[in-house]
Amino acid sequence: MLKKVFSFLLQCLLIILLTVFTQIGGIIWVITWLEANIFCYKIKKKSYSKYFTVKLALFLAFYLFATFGIVPLAAEKYSNRVALPILTENNIQPTTIWTCILNRHYVRPELKNALFNIGQNLEKKYPNSKVSYLDANFPFYNGFPLLPHLSHNDGKKIDLSFFYLDKETQQPTNEKPSFSGYGIYEKAKKGEYNQPEICLKQSWYYEIGKYTKVWSNEDDYTFDAERTRYLMTLIVKEKSIRKFFLEPHLKNRLKVGSSKWRFHGCRASRHDDHVHIQL
Ligand SMILES: [Zn+2]
Repeated sequence: MLKKVFSFLLQCLLIILLTVFTQIGGIIWVITWLEANIFCYKIKKKSYSKYFTVKLALFLAFYLFATFGIVPLAAEKYSNRVALPILTENNIQPTTIWTCILNRHYVRPELKNALFNIGQNLEKKYPNSKVSYLDANFPFYNGFPLLPHLSHNDGKKIDLSFFYLDKETQQPTNEKPSFSGYGIYEKAKKGEYNQPEICLKQSWYYEIGKYTKVWSNEDDYTFDAERTRYLMTLIVKEKSIRKFFLEPHLKNRLKVGSSKWRFHGCRASRHDDHVHIQL
């Protein structure tokens, strides 16, 4: 009896986690669970480990089919959100494929068009440089937050990666120093206004990005101020982009003078590892 209760609670926890991190994963696990209980009853009686393997395989197959086959169509039809390219298109690409696998790459059509404009314009000046996107929004429901970004809940927001140079050759690269794309901070230099130092005294959450980087090779790269500055220029020029968040020391260093700039506040995460833009 106790084993059954424990197993049920574990399933509930898994459903919550899958929903929090992928939005659709929880419901797909429930469907798989019900299906497996009905159709794999005999396997379950014979061997639980075999039953669990079958259930996991069913879940993965159904999840991937839904993620890449069903959800993009449903999101466009019912939620006015479109999927961003998984591979490079119009010079836009994900920093990591996991953003797409976890369904975190949905935006309003206007934002997709704005990104395509930015990507195409960047390519004119830097032909081999790609605009790499990070977390955007989930496919469905306004108000459903994409943790840890509380404001990414309406299809209007997206984070973009900075550009980097290969530290050894000092050549531009499209690679990024952290696996998730977050958590490698271009910190304030001596004499620059240091907002992160102030905010970190108020909240540990300001540095949540460093706990999500998974792994990093930051010693191999340096910040590419030239291309990042040009990316910021294109963001500012894009009419449909109404706001962006960037740490004050980078805004000043890159000379990004624009009324679209906002300080995100100390309750958000710091913005010297990426730039946040929104409609
Ligand atoms: Zn953001």
